[in-house]
Amino acid sequence: MPAKPVLLQGGRVVDPASGIDGTIDVLIERGTISTLGHGLSGEGATVIDCRGLVIAPAFVDLHTHLREPGREDAETIASGSRAAAAGGFSAVCAMANTEPVADSAAVVEQVFNTARAVGLVDVYPVGAITVGLQGERLAEFGEMHDSKAGVNFFSDDGRCVQDSGLMRRALEYAKAFGAIVANHAEDAGLAEGGAMNEGEVSGLLGLPGVPDEAEELVIARDLALARLTGSRLHVPHVSTAGSVELIRAAKTIGIDVTAEATPHHLCMTDTLVASFDPVYKVAPPLRTRADIDALRAGLIDGTIDCVATDHAPHAREDKEREFDKAPPGMLGLETAFPVLYTELVAAGLMSLGDLITRMSAAPARIRDLDGHGGPIAAGAPATLVIFDTEARWTVDPARLQSLSENTPFAGRELQSRIVHTMLAGKFTVRDGEVVDGQR
Ligand SMILES: [Zn+2]
Repeated sequence: MPAKPVLLQGGRVVDPASGIDGTIDVLIERGTISTLGHGLSGEGATVIDCRGLVIAPAFVDLHTHLREPGREDAETIASGSRAAAAGGFSAVCAMANTEPVADSAAVVEQVFNTARAVGLVDVYPVGAITVGLQGERLAEFGEMHDSKAGVNFFSDDGRCVQDSGLMRRALEYAKAFGAIVANHAEDAGLAEGGAMNEGEVSGLLGLPGVPDEAEELVIARDLALARLTGSRLHVPHVSTAGSVELIRAAKTIGIDVTAEATPHHLCMTDTLVASFDPVYKVAPPLRTRADIDALRAGLIDGTIDCVATDHAPHAREDKEREFDKAPPGMLGLETAFPVLYTELVAAGLMSLGDLITRMSAAPARIRDLDGHGGPIAAGAPATLVIFDTEARWTVDPARLQSLSENTPFAGRELQSRIVHTMLAGKFTVRDGEVVDGQR
């Protein structure tokens, strides 16, 4: 039996890609937006009162760690999908550093199939660049690309490809499929032993630091290799002002590069590490106020194309260790939009439309994801997020959908809340509650 039509009534539709910002009713039939208009009749439809709410294309995350297979105590594809839907996402790219590593058709198809069965978000597995993330031999890109998972995005994220020749070959290999390579930029020699940003605060705390240059040297090299090969490079989790400058300059001369920044790097400084709370340990590390300002300027002017969460769940017994021994990583999916709404839009630094673009249309375009990131138009899939920009809530790690609790935003009051999320016309979140059993 076809699902009943849904009428989203009285909401403010914000979709910069279609040039829409205004109160418009949205009628959804058979998973597709059928009509946009004023005063649409709700006869025969489930009417959702959206007065006071914003309707936008659902968000897309290019950088998510789902931990399955291998560390189902920290997160599963099901729990990570719930977290993503709760955060307003319709699609996430699952990083390859699982156990076993996603370096073969078998593993990427396993992730893809499990996610489809859960059905809350579309999960696009990222393929490893090198076999076992060992940085020695290229993985079988072709096999992963030709698999059911259709991988067109490769990364050893968590580890940096140190060998320049290997990185060159990875870029060349990916180009054959029109795929993108994302390299976790961290020079091994400079970063060795580092637990936080190298600077004034690390000096005061007596913790070993990672200098900005550990990131910037690798980005500079990778940009040169992207120029050499003519391949598409994506720079994940940009964290320093110098990196923003390198990417801006590269774009000016036509290098095919895109870049992402995380909510935590856009909003938090290394001074938080003074608490020695391992929840603030992340790679790349939290940097300085000047870096935040440069990242924000880059996000606003488009040098940084998109936001990505780097959602990195860790089981409590792993994460709650001495700071220098704890694994890096923070939760991100459920707080990404409210954090950035609070810090950038409500603070008057960025328009709501620009934030929506950086979290939906821009990442969807980088990964060539049809059906995600809008537009909100007749005939397009009803893959939407509906949120309340006036609601305020306080982050309670115990109440998040993630199996893990390592959010650096615990106790923070945030403005804006996800009310509904829709994936191809089906509610994955309704009235703030995740709706299970989609498929
Ligand atoms: Zn990374």
